[in-house]
Amino acid sequence: MSELASYAVSESNSRGRRCHEASPSGRSEFQRDRDRIIHSGAFRRLEYKTQVFVNHEGDLFRTRLTHSIEVAQIARSIARRLNLNEDLAEAISLAHDLGHTPFGHAGQDALNGCMKAYGGFEHNLQSVRVVDMLEARYATFDGLNLCFETREGILKHCSPVHAATMGELGERFLADRRPSLEAQIANLADEIAYNNHDVDDGLRSGLITLEQLSAVPLVNEHLCEVRQAYPEINDRRVVHETVRRMINTLVTDLISQSAANIAAQHLVTLDDVRRAPALIAFSDELNAKQLVLKKFLHTHLYRHYRVMRMSAKAQRIIRDLFGVFMEDPRLLPTQFQTSETQLESSRARVVADYIAGMTDRYAIREHKRIFAVEEDSI
Ligand code: MG
Repeated sequence: MSELASYAVSESNSRGRRCHEASPSGRSEFQRDRDRIIHSGAFRRLEYKTQVFVNHEGDLFRTRLTHSIEVAQIARSIARRLNLNEDLAEAISLAHDLGHTPFGHAGQDALNGCMKAYGGFEHNLQSVRVVDMLEARYATFDGLNLCFETREGILKHCSPVHAATMGELGERFLADRRPSLEAQIANLADEIAYNNHDVDDGLRSGLITLEQLSAVPLVNEHLCEVRQAYPEINDRRVVHETVRRMINTLVTDLISQSAANIAAQHLVTLDDVRRAPALIAFSDELNAKQLVLKKFLHTHLYRHYRVMRMSAKAQRIIRDLFGVFMEDPRLLPTQFQTSETQLESSRARVVADYIAGMTDRYAIREHKRIFAVEEDSI
């Protein structure tokens, strides 16, 4: 690794871990964070959680696990080029979706609706809960005891009301400060990854077509280039050649615009980063183009009737499960039945943690086990 910029996060300017631990040997603190994330149970469950398409719809679609790996790859490339901490950008990327419910955004919306009277449900906050509390694997602390900068990067957004309850992690939202550049990179790498893989998965599913996508400039300019250079190749190759060019364009633009933004601020320390405006950014031109793509995906893919049907089913499953556990906590698996589940107010958060931790297929099975009355369903 080339030398880190003075304003990159490093072991020497890190605010460290909540629970003191001896320094790791043979790896950095942020490599240790990444390793803990990869070995967590929540990380393994990402394999069976929906990104857009429910896991059982096809083996080739992205899941939250493959999405997170793609985000990490993109974030590392960008961090390396900007002389920032690659290991931190990777750790944040791998952990950024740990708090997601089953069934993607449909699941999160349904659970948030169920939790309205109990403080709501937000997947960002849940990701922090997972790494701070819910992973119960270590002898001397709850959660993964990650470094402050990794946790800060996981908490992308936070309302002022929640920020006030989040201690040191909430401070920046109240003081109008930015997170590290590594966190900003992971955030935009997420956007690059999902916009591009949703084009790819959308085409593979047949819900959107190349003809429709030719109305989107960011796609069309690369699509024309590929078709002109390789008139003989089949559509599958055309799609991949187009998508890889789109990712390259977005990454390259993000690096050059961010490098210019950083240079203009004359940054010296990590504190300078926190006081500056958000510096990791696309150019205005590319932002505008990306917006057209996002709108296209929203209208033609995320609102496609087949996706909407799956979302409606998913929401019903989440609401049914939440309702039945709230009504009768004795139906919860034994390890979830604690003194907290006796009281309605504290029971809701336990139920939300249980549901949020489910994979798509586990939620479907659990719904069957509780609601189906056939002999073999218990
Ligand atoms: Mg994501």
